[in-house]
Amino acid sequence: MGYEKPLPAPDPETEPFWNGCRDHKLLIQRCGSCGTHRFPPTSYCPTCQSGEVDWVEASGRGRVFSWIVVRHPVPKEVYADDVPYTVAIVTLEEGVRMVGNLVGIDPDRVTADMPVVVRFDNVTDDITLPAFAPAGA
Ligand SMILES: [Zn+2]
Repeated sequence: MGYEKPLPAPDPETEPFWNGCRDHKLLIQRCGSCGTHRFPPTSYCPTCQSGEVDWVEASGRGRVFSWIVVRHPVPKEVYADDVPYTVAIVTLEEGVRMVGNLVGIDPDRVTADMPVVVRFDNVTDDITLPAFAPAGA
């Protein structure tokens, strides 16, 4: 049986990110003019408005900024077997924030600022989803 949960639909702006995930690399944008990292992908730098952009590999390390624990699955048919699960906003070492599932830890044990590291889940041949897990786990 195939993967039956919703999948991202890469577009020209986000395709480099998803290609990176497939290679198990967490890619983020860095402004080609002022060097500011940014995520999610945008055409222009919010700091200096430059359209020059480089894709760079993030360390994959960060800290939990905030999180929620999902206990009521929506849609129920799709996520009923997953609850409870944790969705976190992670501040990467590069300064950008990224949303992802937080795996490998009981939701009740998650704490603010806890160090986490990215991990990758190849859910289909084309799509690999990033998630975060406690660092050192
Ligand atoms: Zn810039």
